[in-house]
Amino acid sequence: MVPEIAGTTSLIKAAIDITKAMVGLRDEEKLRTQTFELRGLLLDLQGALHQASEREAHLRSEIRDLTDQIASFNRWTIEKEDYIRKDFGGETFAMVLKTEASNPTHRLCCQCFDQHSRKSVLQKQYNTIHAQEKFFCPACNTNFQFGPWKPSPRVRVVSGGPSPWMTRRPRF
Ligand SMILES: [Zn+2]
Repeated sequence: MVPEIAGTTSLIKAAIDITKAMVGLRDEEKLRTQTFELRGLLLDLQGALHQASEREAHLRSEIRDLTDQIASFNRWTIEKEDYIRKDFGGETFAMVLKTEASNPTHRLCCQCFDQHSRKSVLQKQYNTIHAQEKFFCPACNTNFQFGPWKPSPRVRVVSGGPSPWMTRRPRF
């Protein structure tokens, strides 16, 4: 039994006992004492009922939260089955749809998918000079580079004289 309810039950029993004892009393002093005791018990009972009411509200809130968590977990269990981990080369991974029939092509963040059970669509930023695609996860603020790293094309530097970019400047 919930402690608040058990306490309430014993207070009610004590109040009933005092009331029964008061019925036959003729002594005014004793009646006054019993009335004072009864008033104290009723105040304790009021406090216990208030605590029980708060506890009930707290438990209802916890039940609601747990129900929401279960529903969210069940939705996620179904949704995550639509995705598969894909290697984009160079050991760079993202989650992609198994079939792209109903959704446009997109990549999901593996970190958010695995650790937070959420779908965060990666946003493409640009292609790097190393032939990789740079993406950003807006949920966990992580940058990703997909594809194998390739050396950047070398710029030929001519020793002595002006730099090549200066010599290519258009003449007016
Ligand atoms: Zn993420």
